[in-house]
Parts: sequence; structure tokens; C-alpha cells
Amino acid sequence: MSEQKFLPFALPDIGEDEINEVVDALRSGWVTTGPKTKQFEADFAAFIGEGVEAIAVNSATAGLHLALEAIGIQPGDEVIVPSYTFTATAEVVRYLGADPVVVDVDPATFNISPAAIRAAITPKTRAIMPVHFAGLACEMDEIIAIAREHGLKVVEDAAHALPTTYKGKLVGTLDSDVTVFSFYANKTMTTGEGGMVVSKNKDIIARCKIMRLHGISRDAFDRYVSKTPAWYYEVIAPGFKYNMPDTAAAMGIHQLKKIVAFREKREVMAQRFDRELADLPLILPARPAHAGDRHAWHLYPVRIKLEAGISRDDFIVCMAEKGIGCSVHFIPLHRQPVWRDGYQLDRAAFPVADAAFEAEVTLPLYTRMTADDQTRVIAAVREILGA
Ligand SMILES: *Cc1c(COP(=O)(O)O)cnc(C)c1O
Repeated sequence: MSEQKFLPFALPDIGEDEINEVVDALRSGWVTTGPKTKQFEADFAAFIGEGVEAIAVNSATAGLHLALEAIGIQPGDEVIVPSYTFTATAEVVRYLGADPVVVDVDPATFNISPAAIRAAITPKTRAIMPVHFAGLACEMDEIIAIAREHGLKVVEDAAHALPTTYKGKLVGTLDSDVTVFSFYANKTMTTGEGGMVVSKNKDIIARCKIMRLHGISRDAFDRYVSKTPAWYYEVIAPGFKYNMPDTAAAMGIHQLKKIVAFREKREVMAQRFDRELADLPLILPARPAHAGDRHAWHLYPVRIKLEAGISRDDFIVCMAEKGIGCSVHFIPLHRQPVWRDGYQLDRAAFPVADAAFEAEVTLPLYTRMTADDQTRVIAAVREILGA
């Protein structure tokens, strides 16, 4: 047995700058949404560019909910989502009493299939929610063209896609209505829990800002710094409690400064996996279709070919025995009881997502892994696959 420590599937990369900034927030006396959140939002908007505005929230799930509310999703509306995603993408549609219409994905990228979107459109369809799986951009030009043709909104679930480019443009600046990023613990940058809503549309931003904090027309910090009486506020809608605290934004300010370097490190690791696993009975992750585009490499998903002679489940057990954590992305929505039973989703209607799930395993890839850690992962995969 090896004496080596267990290599977890994911770990956040948090340095002294983040720790000191959180301590500063704690000492300042302002721990809820305040100056650090304002700074994080301004820094994030500047990073994305093209004059977008950014609204910090306490999760991407909250951000997706706000985005759908802001574009006017109503009970009985339909919103098209891919099966190959996390349940959050579909659950926010239900929060508003609307129905997620689950569709199949592209066999190379596992991203939502434009042909499947077209086939799913009905008179009730209001929006499309593409998910940039693993950090690889969806075919956004096609998706936006379909949306324009049918008068639909587009809300990007960019939980994996910071920073990702599509035809040279950062996700967040594309021609969708709203884009939502996640800062959950295992994402490409983290605030523990958190998310960011990004849009160029001033009305959407204004609505998200108000609904993020109880439907109040001024947030606590605005009231604190403003000249008009601090105690006065107006509630203009039954809103939510989705604001990001300064303790989280403090981490985000410094994580964002490192996000380009983080991505470059992930890219180098992904390229090494590509080289050193190329001869094995695996389907390696898709690369960007458009030359020069950047993949965020939130995940490194491989599929085990039939000829490998080992099931995905057994492969993960063998990796764990060698002290290496793996995961599966995703158990598709059509296999989850709530969506499967609630919408009578049959596996046969999702052949691509279903086959992908049965063969998929996500290898550990994160910036705190050392070259030796990656050597261990590669050696373990090669051994299990008999190379
Ligand atoms: C992580 C994730 C979310 C939810 O993000 P939270 O910040 O945890 O709410 C949504 N969609 C996808 C595809 C995700 O992977």
C-alpha cells in the first residue's frame, strides 16, 4: 500500500491575500454587503469588460433565479435546458412556476445541442439556458440566432466558464441577455459560496439589484452612506435574500486577481493529461472548436471506452484504492427522480447525455495539485487501464 496522502477531487486555492482581506472585513465592523462587495463587483465588471454591469449574489443558483425573474419568466412558461447539467439549472425555472424543457446535448462537447433546442420550441417557450460544460463554450452564435428567430431570451449558466472565450470574446460579453458565474468552493475561483450576475442590459441589472435584497429600492450600504435618512426604504416587490456578504467578497477580490494565472495553470495540466493519456482507451475532453479560444478547464471529463474492459463505477473504485478522488459530471437531469418522474423523461429521448453519463469520469484538475500529484493521477489511470 502506498504511504501517500489521499488526493482529493478538488481543493480551493486560497492565499494569504484572501485571508488578510477577510480579516480586514471582520475587523472593519462591516460584514454584510458593503464596500468590499462594491469593489468586487466593480473589479469583476472591469475584468469581463465591454461595459457590462455585475451584481454579486450568494450563489449562482440565486443569480440564475434572479436572471429568470428579471427577464419576466412566469408560471406556465417553458425554459429549455440541457440534460447534462447540475440540477440548479432546472430548479430555478420551477422556483418561478415555469417548466424546464430538458433536451439532449452534443456528443463531442456535452453542451446543449442547437438542433435539440429547435425541436423543443413550442408557443410557451420563453428562454434558453445554455451551460458551458466543463468550461468549454456552447455554440453561442447558433443559440442566439435561434433565440432571435423565435423571440426567446438567453440566460447563460456560466458556472464553469470563468474565464472562457467564444470566438475571441469572453463569456459574459456575448449577445445573451444575462450570464451567471459561480464561486462555489470547487469552481475556478471561489468565495466559499457566491455568484455573479453579469449583463449589459440596464433594466435587467436594476431588477436583479432590487430583487437580490427583499425588493428594497436601496440596499443597506447605500442607505448607510447616503445623505437622505438612513432609516427610510421602500419595498417595491416581494424580493429574495440573495446578497453577497463582504466576508465572501473579500475572498473574491483576490481570487479574481489570480483567475488568469489559475486558468493558465489548468491549461498546462489539461495539455499534460491530453498528451499522457492519449494512447489509452479513453475519449478525452473536447477542445474549443474555434481556433485560439480559451477553455476554463473547471473540469477534465474523460469517457471510458467499452474496449477498456472496465466500467466507470469500477474505475472510480480503483482510483480511490490508489488514493485518488474522482467524480462524475453529470448524473443527467433525465435520471434524477424529480425531473424524470415530474416530466416523464425517458432515457431513450436523451441518447447522447445518457451514454455520456454511463462512461464519464472526471479526473482531479486544480491549481493546488503539484506536478507530482498529476504524475500520480496519470500513473494510476494507466495502471488501471492496463497500459
Ligand atoms: C455549480 C453549478 C451551479 C450552481 O452554482 P452555486 O454557486 O453552487 O449555486 C449551477 N450550474 C452548474 C452547471 C454548476 O456546475
